[in-house]
Amino acid sequence: MNIHEYQAKALFEKYGVPVPKGVPARSPAEFESALSALGEAPFVVKSQIHAGGRGKGTFTDGFKGGVKFAKTKSEALDYANKMYGNTLVTAQTGAAGRKVQTIYFTKAADISKEYYLAILLDRNTSKPVIVASTEGGVEIEKVAHETPEKIFKIFVDPAVGLQGYQARQLAFQLGFTGDYFKNAVKLITNLYRMWWETDASMVEVNPLITTPAGEVLALDAKVSFDDNALFRHKDIVDLRDLNEEDSKEIEASKYNLSYIALDGNIACLVNGAGLAMSTMDIIKHFGGNPANFLDVGGGASKDQVQAAFRIILTDPNVKGILVNIFGGIMDCNTIATGVVAAARELGLKIPLVVRLEGNNVAAGKKTLAESGLKIESADTMADAAQKIVKLVA
Ligand code: GDP
Ligand code: MG
Repeated sequence: MNIHEYQAKALFEKYGVPVPKGVPARSPAEFESALSALGEAPFVVKSQIHAGGRGKGTFTDGFKGGVKFAKTKSEALDYANKMYGNTLVTAQTGAAGRKVQTIYFTKAADISKEYYLAILLDRNTSKPVIVASTEGGVEIEKVAHETPEKIFKIFVDPAVGLQGYQARQLAFQLGFTGDYFKNAVKLITNLYRMWWETDASMVEVNPLITTPAGEVLALDAKVSFDDNALFRHKDIVDLRDLNEEDSKEIEASKYNLSYIALDGNIACLVNGAGLAMSTMDIIKHFGGNPANFLDVGGGASKDQVQAAFRIILTDPNVKGILVNIFGGIMDCNTIATGVVAAARELGLKIPLVVRLEGNNVAAGKKTLAESGLKIESADTMADAAQKIVKLVA
């Protein structure tokens, strides 16, 4: 789950990670009071969307920049009115962009230098890793590619946590001295504590900045959380902004279905994440393009299968459906009954290929055959994939 910059910065403050003062506004009626609460100009006006690269983004009406420096209050109001309700396209949003529904006003900070700081899980070592660079404010992938020597990494032993010497080592590598050094060590230590205690999967501060007054501040904040740990963070779940999520994915989460929208035209309904991945692979292998990842889980009910079908079919790109089920715990006949009910309920008009194997497969195949619906059955995965690719071509 992702949150907005202004929400991430509120969490930062709670953990003692300093940020420039800011106030969010959820409607134009709040712009004036938000700016008044901040005091004197200059301000920075920041579009709140779940994607980075806002500063270099362009709105669909041609207005440039989703993050703007404003020398006066009236300039800030003007920018906010241009951004609000407008759709921002950045390198991370895709061509469709994201509609801006919250504006975050901040006191403009005086920047001496920009740095990069992130905390995430390193899957090779199975350890938390703190990644930092003296090259902030730019794309870190580019730095990693062109000047890898400017990127520093600290691996943390999860059993003992971040050690003081490690935070000091990183601050030293970044070239901090004096007050900056003390402040950077404190910031790194507190940010790590936040990452750990909130079960965040990633915290990215780009840029982290120094100011002429000796401060070290998080100027930008991108935070995402491990969905599997959300059950123990009620306060974080409350930060979820459904405007930022795919409506099909929200619907799927209500039925405990793992659904991820993709841009192809062959919808897949599969049980088990591994089988769902290999189903997508084999569709690609035979020249097709999957419209989604969908794992109905090991013990899906007829209702879940019906819901899955409804969600799949709200995607206008879908031209055919491939159901691939290996019944271990799953009863093939439960799936077949759900498929038939959904196909009837929705008056299915596009090709449907079903491959069933395993527990109670004979009954499942019988249910499909006796339904009178036009369902193509397949014996193997390759057979199923080839059939659906041909049918949507
Ligand atoms: P992003 O484009 O989505 O990564 O948004 P950022 O919050 O990182 O802002 C983009 C850029 O705007 C930053 O890299 C800074 O260069 C600049 N910027 C943002 N806030 C301030 C500020 O308070 N003062 C100054 N001088 N520049 C800022
Ligand atoms: Mg940034």
